[in-house]
Amino acid sequence: MGPKRNPTRRVPIGAVSIGGGEPIVIQSMTATRTTDIDATVAQVRALAAAGAGIVRIAADSRADAEALAEIRRQVDANLSVDLQEHYRLAEWIAPHVDKIRYNPGHLYHHERTKDWRDKVRYLVDVAGSHQCAMRVGVNCGSIEPERKSRFDPTDSLGPMLAGAWDHCEFLDSLGFTRYCVSLKDSDPAKVVELNRRFAERRADVPIHLGVTEAGLPPDAIVKTRRALEPLLGQGIGDTVRVSLTVPNPRKHEEIDAARAILADVAAGRTGWDPSAVGHRLNVISCPSCSRVENEAFVELAERVRDMTRYATPHAITIAVMGCRVNGPGETDDADLGLWCGPHAVNLKRGSLTLGSFPYDAILDRLRAELDRLIESRTVGSLGAEPGSK
Ligand code: SF4
Repeated sequence: MGPKRNPTRRVPIGAVSIGGGEPIVIQSMTATRTTDIDATVAQVRALAAAGAGIVRIAADSRADAEALAEIRRQVDANLSVDLQEHYRLAEWIAPHVDKIRYNPGHLYHHERTKDWRDKVRYLVDVAGSHQCAMRVGVNCGSIEPERKSRFDPTDSLGPMLAGAWDHCEFLDSLGFTRYCVSLKDSDPAKVVELNRRFAERRADVPIHLGVTEAGLPPDAIVKTRRALEPLLGQGIGDTVRVSLTVPNPRKHEEIDAARAILADVAAGRTGWDPSAVGHRLNVISCPSCSRVENEAFVELAERVRDMTRYATPHAITIAVMGCRVNGPGETDDADLGLWCGPHAVNLKRGSLTLGSFPYDAILDRLRAELDRLIESRTVGSLGAEPGSK
């Protein structure tokens, strides 16, 4: 039975639909190289077999687009593609997928003098001519600088919501209604607030729910539950993704976790213990995707979690990201950030880059920075530690 759902419009995506009272669709994303056709086909099939109604694949080049054509030939799954900066790849990709996700915060990177509306108009033309749905995927770590500059720097939600509403309004003005929206942050409380506020104004638009960079299980699942349970309980959300930093053979755990969350919400149960969310250290990490620059990324995230356990009582956020596309931006708000290059890991303190270090040296360097940060906060506040970012 479950909670009464918001009256969103129905959006077909291949053989499934989201919104319009349809069952909530679970989705996931491949983390293989898109150009490794055999590995990607195998992962798409494994995710679909585990229960993913939609499988997303990243595409950043013509080679990825060509690989998608072959992947499409080999799988029946409903495919979504993740477009980031290279929005003009859409015309090569759309014939082979059922949905295109674009990130409003990444559209400005190419053809900088062109208005974002012209770029969205192009995407609508391409999506419309290939019967593709679209997702306006707004992410906390990638808001276009011009939009951000119009808000108080302490207001992280305002620019995200304004971006989502503006894009919806523009898509509506073009007569394109086959879209959904996501508003993701790594902080569950912000995800709740963002989606509640968005749905208050646009109860008609289907919502894709998720916590970005939730990190490693089991903590990442608790973090996701803290956001998704209250939202789904209020009828907000038409499709969900649980992002987990796990190796490729364990990717099905994203779907297992999503299914458990949906079952608990439908039964009116809470699947996490608020009293167990005691520690304050917050290690966030991306789920990895085709863009990940070194296969050692997942192991690095696990080693960071294990090495930093001693800092559990401290309100510090450490972000571990897999690539240069989202790594630099999405580590800015963390106290300490790491983002992976092919041969070295970049270390940051807030938005300041401290340097680039070999994979076998980064943990010692991170530990030194973490010790320094703990000490400065302890001395600076005479023991009363300020809140983390
Ligand atoms: S940070 Fe990079 S590797 Fe990680 S999920 Fe995002 S795009 Fe993929």
